[in-house]
Amino acid sequence: MAQAQVVEKKQMRTPIESGCPDGMQFMHPLMVKNFGNWKYHDRPRPGVLHHVAYSGDEIWTVRVGTQRQLGPYEINLLCDIVDKYGEGHVRFTIRSNLEVMVSKWEKVGPLIQAFNDAGYPVGGTGNSVTMISHTQGWLHCDIPATDASGVVKSLMDELYEEFIKEEMPNRVHITTSCCQINCGGQGDIAINIQHTKPPKINHDLVANVCERPSVVARCPVAAIRPAIVNGKPSLEVDEKKCICCGACYPPCPPMQINDPEHSKLAIWVGGKNSNARSKPMFQKLVAAGLPNNPPRWPEVAAVVKKILYTYKKDARDWERVGDWVERIGWPRFFELTGLPFTKFHIDNWRGARNSLNASAHIRF
Ligand code: SF4
Ligand code: SF4
Repeated sequence: MAQAQVVEKKQMRTPIESGCPDGMQFMHPLMVKNFGNWKYHDRPRPGVLHHVAYSGDEIWTVRVGTQRQLGPYEINLLCDIVDKYGEGHVRFTIRSNLEVMVSKWEKVGPLIQAFNDAGYPVGGTGNSVTMISHTQGWLHCDIPATDASGVVKSLMDELYEEFIKEEMPNRVHITTSCCQINCGGQGDIAINIQHTKPPKINHDLVANVCERPSVVARCPVAAIRPAIVNGKPSLEVDEKKCICCGACYPPCPPMQINDPEHSKLAIWVGGKNSNARSKPMFQKLVAAGLPNNPPRWPEVAAVVKKILYTYKKDARDWERVGDWVERIGWPRFFELTGLPFTKFHIDNWRGARNSLNASAHIRF
């Protein structure tokens, strides 16, 4: 017996100091029991997933939209609902939706009602506009030029009906990114920061704060050179070469590129990671120079809604936004949405020979 216990202990997963904890320990017991043995799933209504296992067990998952930046009040409120109407098990999706699992269909209705009464919508499944995935914004990251979470909250307030219904031609994944590095990734519609001026250098601080060779190496177009300014080691930028990407700002904060007036928002369209029906696609720029206008970003919301509702009206069933644009062509996209096609849509960087396929305009 003692020997068996030793063997068992040896087989346990060794603790690691980084990465997320083992999710099995937090899973609903029914999911642990039937792990890898699911027969099928369906959606009895928007916002609810129903999984049936080979064992005959069933489980319902209720998906709830959150504002992502949750304080103690919101966390306590949500946990109280889950304890009272659910079965104490929740998980977050990568799009910051909350999912609550229950083992009885009778529990689903009261759970949804409790969330709705607390102001939280249930939806985001199937052909809906699900929660917008977004980057950290002003609260967590050190280089954002806008608050991605704020853009998301204001936009989802306007797209509430599209979250709770499944009336789009296919699922719509919107993303936002609060600097041009875009850790937000690809989206059917993406809202990304766009810097329009080279960085402004505070020469008094560079020598104390920045590792100059790293900053020089960081520039994708070799626009940064070491320089002595006012007798101090510093850096200079060849502004004719600079493409205003912002890559020098994270390793060297004295190269300030964020600017309330010149850091704009741009909208990109047609990205997806899925392999279903067509291969994965890169998003392409369709609107540039929109004002970065907190707290509600109305100009951005207007353009996103214009694209979204044109897609809803014109796309065929199961076409993702990128598939739809591929079918009708980019000129027709600009005609239908009424968005102006300007010189800013053309990638005219001299190294663009390799990246022209990312432009909405020229394709090889
Ligand atoms: S997009 Fe940029 S600013 Fe926003 S979280 Fe990512 S790295 Fe930070
Ligand atoms: S903003 Fe980008 S292109 Fe301009 S100097 Fe910095 S790293 Fe180079």
